[in-house]
Amino acid sequence: GGRVRVFSGVQPTGHLTLGNYLGAVRRWAAEDQHRADALFCVVDLHALTVEHDPARVRRLSRQAASLLLAAGLDPERCTVFVQSQVDEHLRLAYLMECTATDGEMRRMIQYKEKAAREQARGGSVRLSLLTYPTLMAADILAYGTDEVPVGDDQTQHVQLTRDLAVRFNQRYGATFVVPKAMPPRVAARVMDLQEPTSKMGKSHARTAGTVFLLDEPEVVRKKVMRAVTDGGDDVVYEREARPGIANLLDVLAACTDGDPERLAEGYASYGALKKDVADAVVETLRPLRERHAELAADPAYVDEVLRAGADRARGLAKPRVDAAYRAMGV
Ligand code: ADP
Repeated sequence: GGRVRVFSGVQPTGHLTLGNYLGAVRRWAAEDQHRADALFCVVDLHALTVEHDPARVRRLSRQAASLLLAAGLDPERCTVFVQSQVDEHLRLAYLMECTATDGEMRRMIQYKEKAAREQARGGSVRLSLLTYPTLMAADILAYGTDEVPVGDDQTQHVQLTRDLAVRFNQRYGATFVVPKAMPPRVAARVMDLQEPTSKMGKSHARTAGTVFLLDEPEVVRKKVMRAVTDGGDDVVYEREARPGIANLLDVLAACTDGDPERLAEGYASYGALKKDVADAVVETLRPLRERHAELAADPAYVDEVLRAGADRARGLAKPRVDAAYRAMGV
């Protein structure tokens, strides 16, 4: 009984982007924390699945947590914590590894893409990159999560999480809630401004096409004004034929609470659209940057929020993870 349980997370693999914000974080703050019992997690263990610098991951975890608070997550309303501070995630991940199959892991699009990227860099592929979805399933299932508000790049992983929950329940007895992915209505996939056929991502090497939440207004403007556009100069909303312009319309719609097709009707040229997109993004990010600066000056406050968050998360997860161990025979 009780309220809907929501869980979602963000990886400290780089600075948070406009994609993370419009596709996920913004709704966590505006909607989920008000309507649900919501947990939001900086999933730092996931950042260890690829080549990483320990000091950088530590710094980025902290920055991600501060940005979640700056974006409006209120520790009085929701639980904000860091994954590695709650051991239940790893305890349950092992049981998920004993539930999932090798074939299922190798089919994941994100695995194929990231493994190819590591190999292209001449690196080797960590085993944890392959098993990543089992840890993500554990993150979600440990809390009896009903809904997972994520961008649509994560729907395949949430589908796998559902499959694992169903399989576990059938084989070992009803233990887990089967969660649903909840992509946003607009901006479910913000695309790279320089390469509008791939998603904007925080860990991409190229940064000209990525708007970071902490970019200075002038930098944001420059990136938007230089966004790659499509042939022609008429503004129409066509995701396949005009991915660059459709992306800018999606961003504008998300920032102004509008409808992308409707917005397209108001522009005669790309230039005017870009200017409005730049203004809208700068205004959307302004309060966030200001609050982040305040929080950065008060590390003790952030520490205390994360400690209390981890305590609550642990208390919620432990009974279900214990039950899963018993159900599996250990
Ligand atoms: P990233 O790909 O930036 O490392 P994460 O895996 O940390 O993102 O995901 C954090 C949240 O942000 C997830 O809900 C994810 O679906 C969402 N997200 C990430 N990139 C985008 C994007 N380009 N557009 C919309 N949502 C996104």
